[in-house]
Amino acid sequence: MTGSPCTKLPWECPAPLKVKHLVQSHKECRLCNRDPESVAHIAFNCSFAKQVWRSILSWVGMPIVLPPAIPSVDVWWEHLCSLLPENKRKALDTLFVLIVWHLWLERNARILREGEKMTSAQLTAKIEQKALEWIGAGAKDLGSLLFAASL
Ligand SMILES: [Zn+2]
Repeated sequence: MTGSPCTKLPWECPAPLKVKHLVQSHKECRLCNRDPESVAHIAFNCSFAKQVWRSILSWVGMPIVLPPAIPSVDVWWEHLCSLLPENKRKALDTLFVLIVWHLWLERNARILREGEKMTSAQLTAKIEQKALEWIGAGAKDLGSLLFAASL
């Protein structure tokens, strides 16, 4: 892909680049039905996304105050990383992909199945469930983040 900032294979890219490849813009966000859709909007600036982020970050023991608007995925990523010690960042990478992937799935589901919507609480529960499945399947870094949160 010419012009791509990441010349590595997708699974070797850091999370924000994976997210960029996932998202293409549409006119109106399907999660809040209010603001124009963009990468940054779906991933974290959307009011729906913010509720999910707030719940998940609290769940993993990082109840941080979310900035009102974040200009880009990279800025959000750096901000989150700055809050965690280096040995926890791989877990955050996994969590980042997990959250944004589920926001994207929900957005697609709303396009495909008009009228059927998950609430942010339902989506949060689904993400937590999936995180636990990944930990059970060997995602040790994510497990250590959650284990630390429960101490
Ligand atoms: Zn939105």
